[in-house]
Amino acid sequence: MAKSIFSQIIDREIPADIVFESEDIIVFKDIFPSAPVHLLICPKKEIAAFSEIVPADWPLVTKALEIAQKLAKELQLNAGYRIVTNSGKDAGQQVMHLHFHLIGGQKLGPIA
Ligand code: AMP
Repeated sequence: MAKSIFSQIIDREIPADIVFESEDIIVFKDIFPSAPVHLLICPKKEIAAFSEIVPADWPLVTKALEIAQKLAKELQLNAGYRIVTNSGKDAGQQVMHLHFHLIGGQKLGPIA
């Protein structure tokens, strides 16, 4: 199976503005930000989508969400922010590699 574009970022095959990295999670800036802060929190393991998470993955997903909360604090998004994951075609998922959008830095409109 072809590598996801996010795995290519993880493997430094394509550039990205990486803001955090650990053994199993990477965070980089979205190339088309929808707000002043728009980060993608991405487990390095290639899980295609939220719908494909298996029980053994939950600790990794928890870790990703913990990092999202930590970064939101560090970035002082005290007035609020949004954590979003698109899962599947009807949600408009473009990259089939599980990731969470951390969006903030301005007043956000309705989610849909
Ligand atoms: P989703 O629609 O939830 O799959 O989100 C995919 C996101 O990845 C979109 O917001 C894109 O702007 C972003 N994206 C796609 N390619 C790159 C890239 N090379 N570097 C950073 N962000 C990207």
